[in-house]
Amino acid sequence: MPARILNGNKIRDEIYSDLRGEIESLRVTGIQPGLATVLVGNEPASKMYVSSKIAACEQLGLLSFGYTPAASISTGELLTLVAELNANNSVDGILVQLPLPKQVDSKLVLESVDPSKDVDGFHPVNLGLLVTGRPGLVACTPSGVIEILRRSGIPIEGANAVVVGRSDIVGKPMALLLMNANATVTICHSKTRDLPGVIRRADIVVAAMGRAGMIAADWIRPGASVIDVGTTRVTDPEQAAQLFANFPERLAKFREKGFTVVGDVHPDAAKVAGAITPVPGGVGPLTIAMLMSNTVKAARLRRGAPAAYAGRGQASPVNL
Ligand code: NDP
Repeated sequence: MPARILNGNKIRDEIYSDLRGEIESLRVTGIQPGLATVLVGNEPASKMYVSSKIAACEQLGLLSFGYTPAASISTGELLTLVAELNANNSVDGILVQLPLPKQVDSKLVLESVDPSKDVDGFHPVNLGLLVTGRPGLVACTPSGVIEILRRSGIPIEGANAVVVGRSDIVGKPMALLLMNANATVTICHSKTRDLPGVIRRADIVVAAMGRAGMIAADWIRPGASVIDVGTTRVTDPEQAAQLFANFPERLAKFREKGFTVVGDVHPDAAKVAGAITPVPGGVGPLTIAMLMSNTVKAARLRRGAPAAYAGRGQASPVNL
């Protein structure tokens, strides 16, 4: 039986609907949450990501403040800008779009963001809060994955969950969130022995490697839930033909456009899994939704507003 397709756009809309209620309840107390975006330079992909984030703010009625320093900015100048945003009471969330130019010390800049405004959840203070299961701001992509699982009725407690990838922004927080939700978690990486064997034991697989279609259909236990975080732009016709041999429509689209974006999981896995996220249209929409959710949450926590909608549209009960 083909897998249930977990539609990220639909889940994003559910989250937005919950958030609208919370935003309204803040509005009546005179609070309009605000997100500051810092886009350094002219990188087209970064520009596109930031404009989608600003568009989401507009859609939900959040304030947005866009800063676009030149690519030649120094670490010191960027630290000054972040300090100004930290001190600005209308700004509840600060998003510094990555990657930053080579001359900038990215770590130093990210660590200079006030943890209470760190809506990306990258600050060591927020990571520490996640480790200890205390309220804080959690990285958007992993908390989006938890939303997909919860809102799709996929049980996490007691499940064997395998996270493939151990980055600070996806793999590690993902594993912590699953563990905090009582899954038994295995973290895999490039040195893992017998990756197929480990994945075959999983009830839940979260793939976050950035290796197009590497997880083959026969690595997936029949009926498992598969969340594909990976996104890789494929332009090689041979690779596309191998990935989409059983998906003539996708192949035709690839031939028309000359590229496509694929996940880490081979598309044929949809014939084996119980539930699977598509790429695109799976995890991607949730990343921006959780940024909006984090901005509203930061406004509520920072300004001491009551949690009118606590437990809805939020990353995890342990991180409210
Ligand atoms: P990183 O490159 O920082 O991390 C990749 C991880 O995958 C590393 O831990 C690496 O292991 C592991 N890995 C790489 N190759 C293999 C392999 N052959 N076998 C097992 N493990 C492997 O990437 P990110 O975490 O930043 O992103 C992961 C993917 O998720 C990317 O495709 C990215 O584009 C996508 N992404 C998508 C988002 C969305 O909104 N949809 C948001 C964020 C990311 P090791 O540590 O040993 O090197």
